[in-house]
Amino acid sequence: MLRDHIRYEERTCKGLDPEIFYPVNYVEEIYELDVLAAQAICRYCVVKEACYREGLEVGRGYGIWGGVDLTADARAQRREKRIAKATNAAS
Ligand code: SF4
Repeated sequence: MLRDHIRYEERTCKGLDPEIFYPVNYVEEIYELDVLAAQAICRYCVVKEACYREGLEVGRGYGIWGGVDLTADARAQRREKRIAKATNAAS
């Protein structure tokens, strides 16, 4: 399991509140600032790539993993599926 390969001591976020990496989208501008703050922590993390892969494996499309906003990625994928579905229905 990928999680076992990331040594906790190497994480830049060790000891920080995990909630930092799960911003809540009540107000878009605040959400974006929260994402930037999390990404600033991840930026120089030495396990960033492994964290991202772990996020793809266990993150369920939610949170900041390896500096990537998987919540936004999942939202974009859902939007693309809705557009494709609507386009197919119209043709
Ligand atoms: S890349 Fe992952 S492990 Fe590193 S600081 Fe960011 S959330 Fe923590």
